Formats: sequence, C-alpha cells, structure tokens
Amino acid sequence: RAKKKGRNRYENAKVEMNAGGFEKFLIENHLHKAIENNELILYFQPQINLSSNKVLSFEALIRWNHPDFGLISPGDFIPIAEETGLILPIGDWVLKEACLKMREWQNAGYSPVRVAVNLSAGQFLQNDFVHKVKNILGETLIDPACLELEITENMVMHDVNQAIKSLMELKKLGVQISIDDFGTGYSSLNYLKEFPIDTLKIDRSFICDLDTNSSSVALTRAITNLAHDLNLKVVAEGVENLEQLTIVKQQSCDAVQGYYFSKPIDDTNVLQFLKKEHNKFTV
Ligand code: C2E
Ligand code: MG
Ligand code: MG
Ligand code: MG
Repeated sequence: RAKKKGRNRYENAKVEMNAGGFEKFLIENHLHKAIENNELILYFQPQINLSSNKVLSFEALIRWNHPDFGLISPGDFIPIAEETGLILPIGDWVLKEACLKMREWQNAGYSPVRVAVNLSAGQFLQNDFVHKVKNILGETLIDPACLELEITENMVMHDVNQAIKSLMELKKLGVQISIDDFGTGYSSLNYLKEFPIDTLKIDRSFICDLDTNSSSVALTRAITNLAHDLNLKVVAEGVENLEQLTIVKQQSCDAVQGYYFSKPIDDTNVLQFLKKEHNKFTV
C-alpha cells in the first residue's frame, strides 16, 4: 500500500517538473545521503545456463528505495550519480554489497553461485579500481572467479590504454569480464582482439523482436558465431517469451536472462529461488 503511494508520488513529481528540474531536485536533495541512509538496494536477476538449465549467476541491479518516492530505477539516478561523481561511493557500495550477498548464498550451501556487477566508466577508470576489487574479494572471502564485471563498449573506448591496463590486471586477479549491451555501443570490433574479455551480452534490442524481425535473427546469429569463434561466451539479454528463447537456443547461445524466467528479485527471493529448486528449468 505504502509502496504504491510512494510510486505515484514519484511519478507525479516526475510529471510536474521538467526532466532537468527533476534531476537537479534529486541531486540537491537525497542522492548524496542515499548510502548512509541505507536507501540503496540491490535486486538480482538470474541468468540461466542453457546447457545445464541451471542458474549459475545473478546480475546485481541497483534500485534506490526513496522514503517518499518509492523504488527508483537506475536509469533515473545512475546518470546523475555519474555527472556528480557520486557514482564512486555508490559503485564501491554495489561491489561490496554484491560480494556480501554472494557470501551469504555460498554460506547457505549454494557454492558455485556467481554475481555480475555493472560498472560505470568513472568507476572503472579509477587508478585504484583493481586494488579496490581485490580488497573487497579478500574481505568477503569470495573466489575472484565468482565475480563478473560488466563493462560497455563505450566505457572501454573512453580511454583505451587505461581500459586495457585495468582489464589485464582484473584478469590476472581471476575476475570474469563481460561486455554489456553488446552491439549498441560506439566502438570498433577491433577491441575484441585487444581486450581480455570472457562474455558478450547481446543487447535486449536485438532480442525483443527476434520472433518478428529476420534482421534481428541474423544479427544475433552473427554475434553468437563471432563470440564463439573468439572463444567467448554469449548471453542473450531480455528474453521475454518462448519464441525468443527457442531462437537463441537454436543459435547456441550459452545463457539467457530475461522476464521469461524471472524479473530482478530481492535477496530474500534469491534464497527462496535457489531453495525451491526453481533453479532448474526445462528449456
Ligand atoms: P543492464 O545492465 O543492461 O541491465 C538489464 C536491464 O534490463 C535491467 O534494467 C533489467 O531489469 C532489464 N531487463 C531484464 N530482462 C528484461 C526483459 O525480459 N524485458 C525487459 N523489458 N527488460 C528486462 P534495470 O534494472 O532498470 O537497469 C537498467 C540499467 O541500469 C542496467 O542495464 C545498467 O546499465 C544500469 N545499472 C543497474 N545497476 C547498476 C549499478 O549497480 N551500477 C551501474 N553503474 N549501473 C547499473
Ligand atoms: Mg548489465
Ligand atoms: Mg545489459
Ligand atoms: Mg542495458
């Protein structure tokens, strides 16, 4: 009840103010206090491996649980956090929180479970970023192979040399690297041979019309074949129905993520999810 009311007030606030005004309002008010007020929360969306039909991994997706506005989605505050530099403390919090949750689940007996964390450019390009990752993994006793970091094409093109350096160090640590929203960025394919990455995540825009658009079918097939030829894994994002699932499965995609299996869920539901053997799907 309260949540619903909160969401309405949030929507109203959005409508009443123009976009710039709303963003400024958010910055000037609570974003800088969101961490200390414990208003940030991670949701998790399962990724289903298509050869085992099991959930091996969850992507951490941040939300801001604002006392007046309810749950605010990352699209509405991450860009502001990036502009104001608040993305650095927020990014640190996400990384730590994701590893702490993973530790809980592994302690509960789900030991191979992995978590993927989204990075922002400013966060990834920090001089001490690799050091931070190493410290958090040490503090939470997480095997580096269980942590996956998602970067975008645009992020690596921002400062190619620094990106290569950081990626090499992260690989040395043993962390997994994915390219998120693959196919939508402003970059050349050249970087695929320079960068030590493990996975391509095909952007949802290629998946959403797979059942009706033959170009999308051709593009996802091409991306999947390219990835496999380069010894990379492929994940299809935003799979919403059986038709889309059937096509990406035929194309030998390694894993899928999307509403067809589950929306992002909170940590209590993750444990429930793992417990109930909902982690087994027939696909
Ligand atoms: P993303 O990393 O590409 O995450 C996937 C987004 O697609 C998520 O939206 C997810 O809820 C949504 N999604 C998943 N499956 C489906 C589906 O079947 N249909 C549809 N329509 N949507 C689906 P969300 O949670 O709103 O996150 C949006 C973006 O915000 C993320 O895109 C990511 O770029 C960014 N983000 C989220 N959490 C963080 C974070 O902790 N740090 C940073 N820097 N960025 C984050
Ligand atoms: Mg992502
Ligand atoms: Mg994505
Ligand atoms: Mg995206």
